[in-house]
Amino acid sequence: MTHSPRRWWRGYIGCVTAIALGIPRVGAAVTPAPVDVGDRGPSPFLIDKHGRRARDLRVSLTDRCNLRCTYCMPAEGLSWQPTDELLSDDELVRVIAVAVGRLGIEEIRFTGGEPLLRKGLPEIIARVGALRPRPEISLTTNGIGLHRRAGQFVDAGLDRINISLDSLDPDTFERLTRRRRLPDVLAALAAAAAAGLNPVKINTVLLRGVNEHEAPDLLQFSLDHDYRLRFIEQMPLDAGHVWSRQRMVTADEILDRLSARFDLTPDDAARDGAPAELFRVNGGPATVGIIASVTRPFCGDCDRTRLTADGQIRTCLFSRGETDLRAIVRGGGSDEQIAQLWRAATWGKLPGHGIDDPSFLQPDRPMSAIGG
Ligand code: SAM
Ligand code: SF4
Repeated sequence: MTHSPRRWWRGYIGCVTAIALGIPRVGAAVTPAPVDVGDRGPSPFLIDKHGRRARDLRVSLTDRCNLRCTYCMPAEGLSWQPTDELLSDDELVRVIAVAVGRLGIEEIRFTGGEPLLRKGLPEIIARVGALRPRPEISLTTNGIGLHRRAGQFVDAGLDRINISLDSLDPDTFERLTRRRRLPDVLAALAAAAAAGLNPVKINTVLLRGVNEHEAPDLLQFSLDHDYRLRFIEQMPLDAGHVWSRQRMVTADEILDRLSARFDLTPDDAARDGAPAELFRVNGGPATVGIIASVTRPFCGDCDRTRLTADGQIRTCLFSRGETDLRAIVRGGGSDEQIAQLWRAATWGKLPGHGIDDPSFLQPDRPMSAIGG
């Protein structure tokens, strides 16, 4: 596994300079906390031992969902976390304010479970949008019900959106999600575009023998509507723990299928540390992305940190350990104590997810309870 020197230096030099001069970096903390070295790391920001800086916070708003995607949830659902175990809106906004103001987080992505099921989502978005420096605010959703609410979210301050769509065939959609809701998702895509959330991104997971043959059709659909399609390799984060490396559809296979109909050219310049490998389609400007978390891991460039709906920090999707922020929040801890705990957790982030390591163990929480 390699670390991107550019990314490392961008974070490291920026932080060291800011610390040395006693000033915040542009777009980072307004008043950096005192520098506490030792095993917490040499920075007020979220830096780990391997030189990465977290700037992108994924916030899970709920573990509940109204679909049952086979690669994520069991048919019967899960035993949902009781509401009083979830961070309240006030607790959530406070923690996000600490992340933005003290830890230099620049982007907040709301996810879940299904984030549209969280009551008060527009208000949460508006409160996060009022933070300064203002973070970018994005949402990953299955789109159910979005066609009625997209404008409301934009008015509240939503900047970007990813909508999940795995099939254009109603029967296959139902087989994958265990719900017959394809028209809702198509309406959601159109509503998001009409509300100005352009470019609307589509997330697609391909499963062998189910929807893998639809890759070119999904790309043509995205080109026709000016959506940006990104395929995500299936990861071992299913509730049933039945993922198999042998059965998953790899990035190479996806590229082979797409290349049978389209001319794809790698667009390395557009990647800039983002997880998606981008390819220009038929010479561009349209692109398609592949997020090959399993076969081409990008852990060395990872700039993410995660907060679960019940207030646990996870430094990686595949972490087997979590750090309990909720206990500090509810125990009367100060903002700086919250920040210090987050810094300490980040400092210990592992260099990679280790899926290929024979000792790899899938996390106990499935994707829906972590926040994808
Ligand atoms: N419910 C929302 C949705 O589906 O977009 C947000 C949460 S979902 C966990 C976020 C993303 O994770 C979706 O694009 C989904 O397809 C993806 N995902 C879920 N389980 C996955 C898995 N085992 N491997 C790869 N991606 C997965
Ligand atoms: Fe729900 Fe998203 Fe998981 Fe599908 S992938 S079951 S929509 S949380």
